[in-house]
Amino acid sequence: MAEEKGLDLLLGTGNPHKVEEFLELAPPGVRIVAAFSRESPPPEINETGDSFFANAFLKAETFSRALRGKKKGLLFADDSGLVVPALSGAPGVRSARYAGEEATDLENRELLLKNMKGLSGTDRRAFFVCVLVAIDISTGALRAASAGRVSGRIANGAMGDGGFGYDPLFVPDGYRASFGIMASSEKNRISHRFRAFHELCLGLEGAWGG
Ligand code: IMP
Repeated sequence: MAEEKGLDLLLGTGNPHKVEEFLELAPPGVRIVAAFSRESPPPEINETGDSFFANAFLKAETFSRALRGKKKGLLFADDSGLVVPALSGAPGVRSARYAGEEATDLENRELLLKNMKGLSGTDRRAFFVCVLVAIDISTGALRAASAGRVSGRIANGAMGDGGFGYDPLFVPDGYRASFGIMASSEKNRISHRFRAFHELCLGLEGAWGG
């Protein structure tokens, strides 16, 4: 029997929240499988890049090298974060480690609120960025890269406790609710991750098999 036409992708991340979101936002015909799990975690990566692209590329490269000879096909990895122009772009590429190497999401959010104390109006503007890089595991060739962004503002305090990271603080443009209150299906319709993923799929057009 012929295999169903579609696109098969291995997702390289150690973050279960990201796996959940990518699985939910994948369009019909795109099949995503997590390359790593708690039992078989991804190799440790020192995110030394000074751009989202540099870190996404570093992850995709390292993960695909670790899987070479064991798996075939395309692997994609992401780097994402929150950018606050009034804080000169912070937390930026350091979003996960804003309050320190081992910082929790709550500690990162508290530091952001502290650093934004006294800022109002347009100074509270912020955007999430997601950069994706897809690599052919067998050859190590770069196959596609994409970026997505969602703009909004940082609330004065946490709104809701859903999602992860900075979700309870981020209110996207056109909404009153933060990502921490919004249903995941709604977030996944407008998010930086959704936008980057759809662009990545377009860039991989030639890889859609059947
Ligand atoms: P990464 O795993 O190096 O890409 O780190 C991404 C970090 O950016 C996360 O740990 C969060 O702090 C933040 N972040 C990225 N995307 C989101 C999102 O969709 N919601 C909330 N925080 C996010």
